[in-house]
Amino acid sequence: MEHNLVLYNTLTRKKEKFDPIYPGRVGMYVCGPTVYSDVHLGNCRTFVSFDLIFRYLLHLGYKVRYVRNITDAGHLEGDNDEGDDKFSKKAKLEQLEPMEIVQKYTIGFHDVLRMFNTIPPSIEPTATGHISEQIEMIQQIIDNGYAYEVNGSVYFDVEKYIEAHNYTILTNRNLDDLLNNTRELGGQDEKRGRLDFALWIKAKPEHIMRWPSPWSVGFPGWHIECSAMSRKYLGDQFDIHGGGMDLAATHHTNEIAQSEACNHTTPAKYWMHTNMLTVNGARMSKSAGNGFLPLELFSGDHSLLTRGYSPMSVRFFMLQAHYRSTLDFSNEALDAADKGYKRLMTAVSLLDKVEPSKKSDFGGIEQLRKRSYAAMDDDFNSPVLIAELFEAVRLINSIYDGKTSISSDDLIAFRSFMHEFVFDILGLKNDLGGSSDDTDSLMQLIIDLRNEAKKNKDFVTSDSIREQLTAIGIQLKDSKDGTLWNKI
Ligand code: AMP
Ligand code: ZN
Repeated sequence: MEHNLVLYNTLTRKKEKFDPIYPGRVGMYVCGPTVYSDVHLGNCRTFVSFDLIFRYLLHLGYKVRYVRNITDAGHLEGDNDEGDDKFSKKAKLEQLEPMEIVQKYTIGFHDVLRMFNTIPPSIEPTATGHISEQIEMIQQIIDNGYAYEVNGSVYFDVEKYIEAHNYTILTNRNLDDLLNNTRELGGQDEKRGRLDFALWIKAKPEHIMRWPSPWSVGFPGWHIECSAMSRKYLGDQFDIHGGGMDLAATHHTNEIAQSEACNHTTPAKYWMHTNMLTVNGARMSKSAGNGFLPLELFSGDHSLLTRGYSPMSVRFFMLQAHYRSTLDFSNEALDAADKGYKRLMTAVSLLDKVEPSKKSDFGGIEQLRKRSYAAMDDDFNSPVLIAELFEAVRLINSIYDGKTSISSDDLIAFRSFMHEFVFDILGLKNDLGGSSDDTDSLMQLIIDLRNEAKKNKDFVTSDSIREQLTAIGIQLKDSKDGTLWNKI
């Protein structure tokens, strides 16, 4: 089938035909998490959105190299060369080594994304693993005249850069407004211009994460890691650079400036930004205190939640909104998504069960397939695709009820259509009806043993049962009606 994939490019502020630099191949870089605490549901929305994009590109037959980094150094609290290093601060608070913090939250991040059924990226580079590449890039920027050293720290010279480049090309902001609105920030006394940002920061004596460099023992700025790692694995210029919308104004603006100053070319052809998950209209974030943890959502263990939701219902909830629209979190919206998800899964299972007829009054699925591709080709429009899939659900129910008959060939085509779009492209999996009678009785046995242990005040055993079940993806929930279990 001929495809005409169109995507919205933040750089040009319009939808453009997707035309990769090397035919048949796609290089995609997405800014990954800063692993100093648990990822919240908002972060997950961004990674699920790029998972949909990754899956669709793979489905279309592209050979995709998907690079998503782990930020494990250099990200300061203020995002802007001010405040403590996020890792060192958390390490002191939890009395751990910074790399223990990194390890703990990287594992947690992977566990959560696995529950959401995302496909791992092709390469997942870490900032600490690429210090020499960052130093090399900083040196090239200095050599090209776009950065300067002061007291062992290196800053990017934005004023020099804007002489020949459009610094705000990504977000189209007015440069004068930007200059006037920039607060005095930490390290400002060393900077020549207000918009200058750090490429290398000399470590204060108390700073734990530090590396030698030509300028000082210190650590890299946050923005340079993505420029250095995307260049290393995808080249000076690649197809797609993505991240949450909140990253465009500073992080991505500075990435473009660094790459231009170093390689004399803009790093990515298409910039894609996902919109925010909000709670009562406010962006979900760690600092605002409205950051749900995915595990809280799965178990229902949160004051704002009336019950828990399975990871696949939550994934479906996310996919029901277009990635460039905001998505507001509420119990009602999740309930509706949960129902929709279950209806879809039940229909797919029914379709796998129905028998073909000799005579067929089924019109075929070519039109449905065409419309479904049209939805995805239009900037990955998953809500429109889902509406088409519900059209398919109506057809399936009509076949199941005997109102429509379907031939064997049509049935095979219909089944493969549903599997491709529901499982391969939307990345859902069927977590309904997973419990056979056997599993139910086995689980009851385990729950009884745990209750027995609790009664005998053997909490080591009862906690260990719960933890071991969690480790294999089964969650126990104690309620007044007894202990319930579900798969997570
Ligand atoms: P961080 O760990 O803060 O570096 O963020 C990881 C990713 O999550 C980035 O691409 C952010 O843009 C994205 N992100 C942060 N908050 C939200 C939110 N409320 N909704 C969607 N994406 C978000
Ligand atoms: Zn980045």
